[in-house]
Amino acid sequence: NQGLAQVDPEIAAVLDGELARQRDTLEMIASENFVPRAVLEAQGSVLTNKYAEGYPGRRYYGGCEQVDIAENLAIARVKELYGAEHANVQPHSGATANAAVLHALINKGDKILGLELAHGGHLTHGMKINFSGKLYEVSAYGVDPETHLVDMDKVRETALAERPDVIIGGWSAYPRHLDFAAFRAIADEVGAKLWVDMAHFAGLVAADLHPNPVPFADVVSSTVHKTLGGPRSGFILSKQEFAKKIDSAVFPGQQGGPLMHVIAAKAVAFKIAGSAEFAERQERVLRGAKIIAERLVADDVTKAGVSVLTGGTDVHLVLVDLRHSELDGQQAEDLLHAVGITVNRNAVPFDPRPPRVTSGLRIGTPALATRGFGDKEFTEVADIIATALKNGAATDVDSLKARVDKLAADFPLYPGLQQY
Ligand code: PLP
Repeated sequence: NQGLAQVDPEIAAVLDGELARQRDTLEMIASENFVPRAVLEAQGSVLTNKYAEGYPGRRYYGGCEQVDIAENLAIARVKELYGAEHANVQPHSGATANAAVLHALINKGDKILGLELAHGGHLTHGMKINFSGKLYEVSAYGVDPETHLVDMDKVRETALAERPDVIIGGWSAYPRHLDFAAFRAIADEVGAKLWVDMAHFAGLVAADLHPNPVPFADVVSSTVHKTLGGPRSGFILSKQEFAKKIDSAVFPGQQGGPLMHVIAAKAVAFKIAGSAEFAERQERVLRGAKIIAERLVADDVTKAGVSVLTGGTDVHLVLVDLRHSELDGQQAEDLLHAVGITVNRNAVPFDPRPPRVTSGLRIGTPALATRGFGDKEFTEVADIIATALKNGAATDVDSLKARVDKLAADFPLYPGLQQY
């Protein structure tokens, strides 16, 4: 019955070190967030001990009466949150959810059409060495070279030429809304199923601050841990017509025993996502991203060759274009890291630099909004980032780091939480 500090001090030190890192730096990776204490508690619980293959009321193991309650709550809450006919909350991650979606909708060798990886698509939407590129015949639509927007006329043209069986709407790096009604019309015209992967913007949809794909798509997949702010995991929503196929694609098609501790934590996250506090937080997420985009298109920054793709953002992230900057993506990521801000470099469409270096940054506001940041703090963060990117190698790192330290100290993360 010894605790972690006694059993494994090396791992205890990692937990301690990571809590300190999260507290002392500003987390701006667009796909990250800080889960509420209640989610940490549910996930770090005895539910991890339970095998529960199958679905509530239809398990292949005894003793599932408590975990059935948790899974039924998660299902009911997420259906209500998004207005979905059916929900499967068992996917271990976004990628396994996506594998299950394709498994349910089509057969090996069938055709899929998604957003080009290099233009903001996801690995599971058809990357060559991902399961999606190996099992299915892939074609892609891109963004317009001038506007960097998805042009629905082009999507339609590609769909008419390629005749895909599934059309995918969704992205990992795109700063605007997609037109789900137009995707639906194209899917109907070519006889394809429509799958929307809302992993990135699910939290914004839950707060009614982003169009909801559920009324338009046959199937919607998502992660829980990005804007939605829950445990690292996935879920799938669908029309009733696809319910059985989705469920059997997840189990036994894709997974064995569900992670019941994570499913309980998802239930908690879905409950929180229906609250007024959550909606207010998502509003700060959006305003924060707009504040950063506006600062990065000001004259002093654009003179240094730094700009923002599409000129702004409608979502929780900003895509910085460094194609004309002395800094490449790697250098910019490293510079901000030195200042205490964590972001990830990201290829921009038509990127001349190699994928390991890139000419872009993806900067997101969800984690800082969860920490409590509002307009004032995001304005300060925006100025710190702008100052670093415009000055490049000449940046006074120490003075910017001091400003970051002050923000981090003013907004304590997990106050009172002690690890070891
Ligand atoms: N779908 C999209 C659009 C994503 O951006 C991501 C994660 O980056 C995923 C799916 C995969 O999620 P996970 O990392 O949980 O497998």
